[in-house]
Parts: sequence; C-alpha cells; structure tokens
Amino acid sequence: MNPRVNIPVYLDYNATTPVDVRVFDAMQPYFVELFGNAASSSHGFGMQAREAVDTARQQVARLIGATPAEIVWTSGSTESINLAIKGAMDCHASRGRHVVTQATEHKAVLDCCKTLEKNGFDVTMLTPDTDGRVSPEQVAGALRADTVLCSIMWANNEIGTVQPVREIAQVCRARGVLFHTDATQAAGKLPVDVVADYVDLLSLSGHKMYGPKGTGILYVRKGVRLTCQMDGGGHESGFRSGTLNVPGIIGVGAACDLSRRLMQSESARLTVLRDKLENGLIARLGDVVVNGSREHRLPHVTNLSFPGVNGMDLLPRLTDEVAVSSGSACTSASMDPSYVLRAIGRADDLAYASVRFSLGRKTTDAEIDFTLEKVTRVIEELRTHHVVAV
Ligand code: PLP
Repeated sequence: MNPRVNIPVYLDYNATTPVDVRVFDAMQPYFVELFGNAASSSHGFGMQAREAVDTARQQVARLIGATPAEIVWTSGSTESINLAIKGAMDCHASRGRHVVTQATEHKAVLDCCKTLEKNGFDVTMLTPDTDGRVSPEQVAGALRADTVLCSIMWANNEIGTVQPVREIAQVCRARGVLFHTDATQAAGKLPVDVVADYVDLLSLSGHKMYGPKGTGILYVRKGVRLTCQMDGGGHESGFRSGTLNVPGIIGVGAACDLSRRLMQSESARLTVLRDKLENGLIARLGDVVVNGSREHRLPHVTNLSFPGVNGMDLLPRLTDEVAVSSGSACTSASMDPSYVLRAIGRADDLAYASVRFSLGRKTTDAEIDFTLEKVTRVIEELRTHHVVAV
C-alpha cells in the first residue's frame, strides 16, 4: 500500500493525471459565478468569460511557442487528432491523397488513417526501429508528390520513446508536406517549440498534464487550412463549432502554465526516481528487458518486460497495491499483446509480461521504495511458480 495512506501507489500517470489543486482552484469560479458564454460579448457575463478564455489561450500558446490565435479548443487529443488528420486530408484532397505515419502511434491516429483508407486515401505505415523510433531518412523516403500530411507522435504513451520530431518535421516542411504531431504525452514534460520544430499541427490533452478530462487543444499554424469536422456556429475561427467549455479551458490554461514553470525541476526529479526504480529492479531481478529507447525517452516512464513470468498473472498481482498498466488490450474473452511492443519486435511472451510504470507530480521516493519491494516479490514468486509449472 501507499506508505502515506491506505491506497495503492499510483504509477499510471500516462493513463491520466489527477487535476492539480491549483488548476482546480483556477477553474472553480467559472462553473457557478462566472458562468457566461464566452461567445456572447454583448454583456459583462460573456466578456468576463471571454477574457478568461483569452488568458488561457495565451498560457497554452506560451507552453508550445505558438501565438494565441493558433490555439483551437477541443474535447481532448482524440478530437484534435481527428480534426488535424481528417481535416487536412479532406481539405487538400484535390492536391493529393497520401498520408505518412508510423506503427506505434496511438489508436486515435491509426484509426483515423484506417478510415481514410476506407475512403480511398493512401496510407504509408512506417516501421520503427527496435527502440521505437523512425528516422528522418525513412520519412523522406516515404514522401511522394501527392503526400499531403505526415503524422508522427512526439512521445509514445506505452514505452515513452521520443521521436526526432524537429528533424522529421524539417524534412516535411522542405517538401511542402504538412506535419502533425501527437504531443499528448510530451507537452508539459519536454520543451516544445512549434516554430523552431517546424510543426504545422499539434495535439495535446488536458488530462495528461494535471488538467481536467475532456479538454484539449489543436495547434493550427497560421495559414494552414483544414476542413472542420463539426458544423455549427463557426466558433474557433471555423475550425471547431460549439459553445466553449469555459471551466475546462481555464483548467487547460492553468495546467499548461504550471507545467511550463515546473517542467525542468519535475523532469530532473522524476528522472532520478524512474532510474532508481528501473536500475533497482534490474539489480534485484537480473533478467529484465527495458522496452523502448533508454536514450530518447520521457523522463517519467519505464516499460519493462520480465522474462520467465506468465503475463496473465502479472498485473492482477501488482495492481492491488501498485496501480500500473500494460499495453495489452484486455477483454473478457481475449488479451492481445501490445501492438506497440510487437511493432518494436518484442516476442508475444515478453510483450505479455510487460509493465508500464509512469511516474508523476505526486510520486515520492518512499513510493518508489515500496514499488521496488512489491514488484521484486511478485516477480520472484511468479518465476518460481512458472518454473514449477513447466
Ligand atoms: N495520444 C496519445 C499518445 C495518448 O496517450 C492518448 C491518451 O491516452 C491520446 C492520444 C488520446 O487522448 P484523449 O484521452 O485526450 O482523447
């Protein structure tokens, strides 16, 4: 159990984060007191809401090096990604029908591409190396005269691998291809500068950075055209209709502001804790496989496979006291190994026997000590059992 209180240790920050209390405090007045519609500027209620939304726009823009006018509010990364990919391909279909992406993207990207394929578009799916990275050369080789868009994630949600975004985006810019990046796991954790990094479209989500669920943004570089995916009142410069979720927007703004200010210190702190956990487990258990790049990865993530362990038994034995996850899609009937681990070449048994530990703002040294003990005990028991069962 969590050494501080009687609840499991939470090491699943890539799944979602708690709302930071400072973010919650910033949001609170906008539910009951300051409830105006930000689109109604004819009276004070609307104007107050509008001013707060404008401030939030500046806060988000500052985190990623954009200008406020380039921020489009959405309900989260899934929606942002749909708008970016489908919106770009729809809008530029007369110019070309080819899109480039890679195999470890989030399902939001992969499934958008599947839908495009069904609608007669052409998708090139790049295969990453064993670290989970694609190279600028790979991307350059895949671009064609009819390529409209390339979508490569900033950092992977399961293994934490960080892509060479700037180099890839530069290749795309030079060839006149739009570049979208899913920065859901990177924003607020790593420095992002859409101008220096040649990014045209960027998706991020509030609930991965201590903001509220159901909130996010799409950055649309000035001048980039997209077909809106939701018709209506023409809000957000026509990119996304619908009354603005003012408290949610205030939350994303405050979350971005806080993340920007805490990024450096949190990154350094979490790297130390993550390495303590990873190195501690390797030292105690010997045979441990680190999934993804150890050089190019998020500071707070480690994804480990434990050879000699039946993956089916692993998570249920851990999650009573340590909330972690694996990339396996678990249904009552079947459990598929993670497609991300498969894409980087892991055999099924290692993919099943994997655990993603993702640390965050509330993670303490004592929690890491506790997790080290717990995981060591469970793996040793399962290995003993596994050998006897064989
Ligand atoms: N992209 C990545 C890399 C993610 O990790 C997630 C969520 O897990 C998403 C997209 C979807 O984000 P949202 O939950 O905001 O729709």
